[in-house]
Amino acid sequence: MSTPIFRFQDRVALVTGGSRGIGRAAAELFAQGGASVIIVSRGKEQAEQTAAEIAAASGQKVIAYPLDVADFEQTQEMGKFIKAEFGRLDILVNNAGITRDELLMRMSEQDWDDVLNVNLKGAWNCAKAVIRLMMKARYGRIVNVTSVSGQAGQMGQTNYSAAKAGMIGLTKALAREVASRGITVNAVAPGYIPTALTADLPAELVQQILAATPMGRMGTPEEVAFAIAFLASEQASYITGQVLGVDGGMVMM
Ligand code: NDP
Repeated sequence: MSTPIFRFQDRVALVTGGSRGIGRAAAELFAQGGASVIIVSRGKEQAEQTAAEIAAASGQKVIAYPLDVADFEQTQEMGKFIKAEFGRLDILVNNAGITRDELLMRMSEQDWDDVLNVNLKGAWNCAKAVIRLMMKARYGRIVNVTSVSGQAGQMGQTNYSAAKAGMIGLTKALAREVASRGITVNAVAPGYIPTALTADLPAELVQQILAATPMGRMGTPEEVAFAIAFLASEQASYITGQVLGVDGGMVMM
């Protein structure tokens, strides 16, 4: 790997949804910067493969921990595992996310529940599982991956927009709770990034999104990962409760 852009020596970082897409790009930057990395996703095989590839490229300890972030008990077990295996957790990136797009009049209750449970409750579950470890260490960086949909709303995404807006509230509330303990809590809000999540968007919608993006292009997972890595770095020590847009100018607050 090339020269690290951010330094994470001796840090332990957990990335939910780290098996592919934006989460994987962030996990790569952490490992490249010298951190041990825990990759969480439901799919065991993909998480293990990604962990092995990042470990081989970086020479760092990178492990897969397959679970469903929506499952409270599983995330509590994960917290115990991290305490026993590493004794610390410096960085938590709540990046796991799903979409189940449909107009409200056609959206099922299941689609609402699934999206809220994974995107919003999943972030709360994971923060709750590790916050004591961070508080004891009087150090922590939590980065929540929200979306322009949570800031501006997106048609066909009442579930996803609500979950992502909820993550912004969670970010700000938790930032206030733990600021005095050396823990920062911030969010990044990506615009349109080509990944598995957006692969099935209709071409017409993609054109509309690009037309609404001043830079007129999609972003890359790496461009989002750089913002995550910055907020997760020691150097971002006086930034908390913020939402950093990585969206080519789509939402300007
Ligand atoms: P991908 O679909 O490529 O990756 C999603 C990751 O989350 C996978 O690793 C997936 O693994 C994991 N995941 C999904 N559900 C769960 C779950 N219940 N428990 C644990 N892991 C889970 O998507 P992106 O990389 O595009 O998305 C990453 C984040 O960025 C999401 O929160 C998304 O909402 C957000 N975002 C993405 C944008 C985009 O344009 N791509 C724009 C704005 C925000 P598995 O399926 O094996 O569980």
